[in-house]
Amino acid sequence: MILERQPLIFELGKPGRKAVDLPKLDVPEVSNLIPEKYARTSKAALPELSQLELIRHYTQLSNRNFGVDTGFYPLGSCTMKYNPKINEDISRYEGLSLLHPLQDSATVQGALEILYKCEQALAEISGMKAVTMQPAAGAHGELTGLKLIRAYHRDRNDLARTKVIVPDSAHGTNPASAAVCGMQAVEIKSEADGSIDLEALKAVVGPDTAALMLTNPSTLGLFESKIEAIAKIVHDAGGLLYYDGANSNAIMGIVRPGDMGFDVVHLNLHKTFSTPHGGGGPGSGPVGVKEALVKFLPNPRVQFCDGLYSWVTSDKSIGKMQAFHGNFGIIVRAYAYILSMGGEGLRKSSEDAVLNANYCKKMLEEAYDSPFDRFCMHECVLTSKKQKQYGIHTLDIAKRLLDYGYHPPTIYFPMIVEEAIMIEPTESESKETLDGFIDAMKKIAVEAAMDTELVHSAPHNTIVSRLDETLAARNPVVKWAAQ
Ligand SMILES: *Cc1c(COP(=O)(O)O)cnc(C)c1O
Repeated sequence: MILERQPLIFELGKPGRKAVDLPKLDVPEVSNLIPEKYARTSKAALPELSQLELIRHYTQLSNRNFGVDTGFYPLGSCTMKYNPKINEDISRYEGLSLLHPLQDSATVQGALEILYKCEQALAEISGMKAVTMQPAAGAHGELTGLKLIRAYHRDRNDLARTKVIVPDSAHGTNPASAAVCGMQAVEIKSEADGSIDLEALKAVVGPDTAALMLTNPSTLGLFESKIEAIAKIVHDAGGLLYYDGANSNAIMGIVRPGDMGFDVVHLNLHKTFSTPHGGGGPGSGPVGVKEALVKFLPNPRVQFCDGLYSWVTSDKSIGKMQAFHGNFGIIVRAYAYILSMGGEGLRKSSEDAVLNANYCKKMLEEAYDSPFDRFCMHECVLTSKKQKQYGIHTLDIAKRLLDYGYHPPTIYFPMIVEEAIMIEPTESESKETLDGFIDAMKKIAVEAAMDTELVHSAPHNTIVSRLDETLAARNPVVKWAAQ
C-alpha cells in the first residue's frame, strides 16, 4: 500500500466556507487601529474550510504521527516507554497547573510538598542525600552536576582539578557538558567486552581529575561490574564520580548509584519517570548529591519545618540553574508515577525491561551479530556486520522496518560498535508485540540475503521514502507561501 500525500490545508475548501459562526460584535467597531503603512492592501490568502473538513484534516495529520501510543518504539538510549495516562491527568489539575511561581509559599503548600517529597523519593531511588529539581533536561543536569563538582573542589581550594574523564561509549552530551562547564574531557577506551579498562583509567587519573562521568548500565546496555574498583581509583586520586542516570530503567529498586560509589547523579524524568520524551521537550533532569555537596545545590530549596514548607537558600550555592523551580508539571507526573508504582512496582518494571531486552537479544542473535557475549540490561546492541556482505547497512534495515510498521531502533550509536542497532523494548510491551518485531527483523535478515534491492530501496509504503535528512535539518521549509 502506498499512502498518498495529504493535501495541504490551502488546497482544501472553497471561498465562503466557514468552520465557526462568530456572534455579532457587541462593542463599537474601531477602524484605523493599525497604522496605514503596516496595513494590508488586499485580503490574506487564507484557506476557507467547513468545520468537518478542518477536523478531518488535522485528525488525518495526527494519524500520520508515530508515537508510543500508536506502535512499538524501541529507540535505544531514549527510553520511549509508555507513560500511564493518569499521570497526565494529575499534572493538569488546576490546583497545580494554574499556580504562579511567585505566589506566596503559604498559598502553595501542596505544590511545595510535591517538590519536597519527589526530591526525597528520587534521593531514595538513587541513593543520594538531596536532590535539586531545577535542571530542565539531562544535559542541563550534567552541567549542574559538573558545576557542583567544581564548587566542591574550589571550596577546598583545590583549583587544579579541571579534567573530566569520559569513556568512549558515553553519550555525546557528557564531553559537551564538560566543555560548556569550562572543563576538559579526557576520553578513555573501553575494553573488548565493553567495560572500563582499569589500567587506562589509572593512567589518566591524578591531581587534575575533577570527576569521572559514567553511565551504568553503559550506553552499550551493559552493567559495569567493576564499578567499586573504579570508584576507589577515582576517589583515591581525589576526584568525584558523576552518574549519568538518564535511563534508569534497568536499575530502579535494584541497585542505587549512591551505593555504587557515585557522588552526583542526574535522572531524566522524561525518560524513566513518566513524561513523554521526544520532540525536544519539555524535560526535567533532577540532580542528586551526597552529603558533602548539598550546600552547593542551586538556590532556593524547599525545606519542611514546624509543619510548613518554605524556601531556603545557601551561601555556598552555585546559584540558580532555572528562572524558577524546574518544570513543575513534569515533576508532578514523576511523583504520581512513583507513588502509583510503589517501590515494588518500580523494581518490577526494571526487571521486566531487562527481561524484554534480553529476550530480543537472544532471539535476534543468530540473524544479526551481537558484539558482546554477555547478558544485557534494559537495552541490547546488535550489529548488521553480517548483512554488509550483501551491501546492506544498518540504515537499510531501519528503513525496511518502517514497511513492517515499526519505529526503528537507534542506529549507529554507540559509535564504538560498527553498524550498531540498539534496541530498547521497555517494560510495558507484551510478548506478542516483541515476537512481531523479532519476526520482522528476522524477515529483513532473509530479505537482505535474498532480495537485496527490496531492502536497499525501502521504505516502500510510507508517504515519502528516503529523505535528505541533512538538507531537511539545515534548510527546513516550515511555512507555506502563496505563489
Ligand atoms: C538522553 C541522554 C542524555 C541527555 O538527556 P537530554 O534530556 O536529552 O539532555 C544524557 N545521557 C544519556 C545516556 C542519555 O540517554
